[in-house]
Amino acid sequence: MSPQVAWLAELRRLVVLVAVALAVGWPLGLPWELLSVALIVLAMRWLWQMRRLLRWLEDPAIEPPEALGFWGEMYDRLYQLQRKARERESDLRSRLDYLQDSLSSMHDGAIMITAAGSIEWSNQAAQRLLGLRYPADRGQALLNLVRLPAFHRYYIAGAFDDPLQLRMQGEREQTLQFAITLFGNGDRLVFVRDVTKEAHLEQMRRDFVGNVSHELRTPLTVIKGYLEMILANAQQLEARFRRPLEQMSQQTERMESLLKDLLWLSRLESVRTQARREQVDIAGLLQELVDELRTLYPERTLSLQLDTREKIPGDYRELHSAVSNLILNAFKYSKNDSSVTVSWRQRDDELLLAVEDEGIGIDALHIPRLTERFYRVDDSRSSATGGTGLGLAIVKHIAAGHRAELRITSILGKGSTFTLAFRR
Ligand code: ADP
Repeated sequence: MSPQVAWLAELRRLVVLVAVALAVGWPLGLPWELLSVALIVLAMRWLWQMRRLLRWLEDPAIEPPEALGFWGEMYDRLYQLQRKARERESDLRSRLDYLQDSLSSMHDGAIMITAAGSIEWSNQAAQRLLGLRYPADRGQALLNLVRLPAFHRYYIAGAFDDPLQLRMQGEREQTLQFAITLFGNGDRLVFVRDVTKEAHLEQMRRDFVGNVSHELRTPLTVIKGYLEMILANAQQLEARFRRPLEQMSQQTERMESLLKDLLWLSRLESVRTQARREQVDIAGLLQELVDELRTLYPERTLSLQLDTREKIPGDYRELHSAVSNLILNAFKYSKNDSSVTVSWRQRDDELLLAVEDEGIGIDALHIPRLTERFYRVDDSRSSATGGTGLGLAIVKHIAAGHRAELRITSILGKGSTFTLAFRR
């Protein structure tokens, strides 16, 4: 029966009841009294049905009450709704179990955290890696159980684009990587991975590059010294040797700057700059650097715009190196008569250090790869300008060490802007 039909049947029943009460009551001279009695009986029936309904709703496990017509229809529909909800619940429960099973069997630690910061669930690997016990630790605040200051800072800062890597000193030295994703209403899923092997390999790679660069410096200094000595008396040289020797000297200089950049990069990679923080007066640093470069490159127009005197925590030497790399690049990749502008300003919750040039620009295609080591847009041009191909890799590293972002915007043929954006 459709709801409309059931409702109409109930209405018909009411009309018939009223008609019968009036028809019987009229000859007896008591039409209103009988009508009232009939309506009271009807209301009582409805009240009784409502009571049955309420009772049943209190304990839906029991079968729904039997009834005819409108009420029967209502019980049926509620029963069906309830059955569907129960089916959906059990379906969801089995999916959740399946999901938890798969997370449980994972090699990486997985911890579900409520918006209030307490542990909702964690897997076996989380016990192995962090000592969290489930279900014993359920409801406990995660930050009370994982007592790692760097993790606390990462967790509270809420910027989870990049994972956090931490070296743990314990019985067994291990490196853990933490990644956090947000879901639902501020709930978090924390993944912990043991990356000890990868970190060890990475360390070996860094050490290797550092050591090779270091070892190559001594022979290079000797070669360079002799070449300088020979070229100092160039007039005594046979003409056919002069050019090759000059080229050798140029290449040793290139090699020297390459080794210098490689060593600087490997130092940046191995030293944790966060540990050596001072308040760096960026406006002062830029003023000093710009004065220095104006003297070294008098032919260039270099302007400086200081809209703020805000200082930032960091390492003076590193920041100096990053900005001078950016300005020297701007010089290298633009004409002498174009200008380069360096600015330091504040925008919303960011402090922006920008170097803008009117040079050759960079095709959008290359921008994402510019900070890779030895990546060059135009190899022949970069080699001719004496670049090592490591400048932007160094800048990116320094930016990361200062929790800043390196943003690159460029229009081919018009110019480029390299911005270091520091969070306030
Ligand atoms: P390089 O030593 O070759 O300059 P970098 O790492 O500093 O190496 O830069 C990588 C590449 O990015 C450069 O080879 C160049 O192609 C491009 N590049 C860097 N800065 C600029 C700029 N200001 N304008 C145009 N291209 C640039």
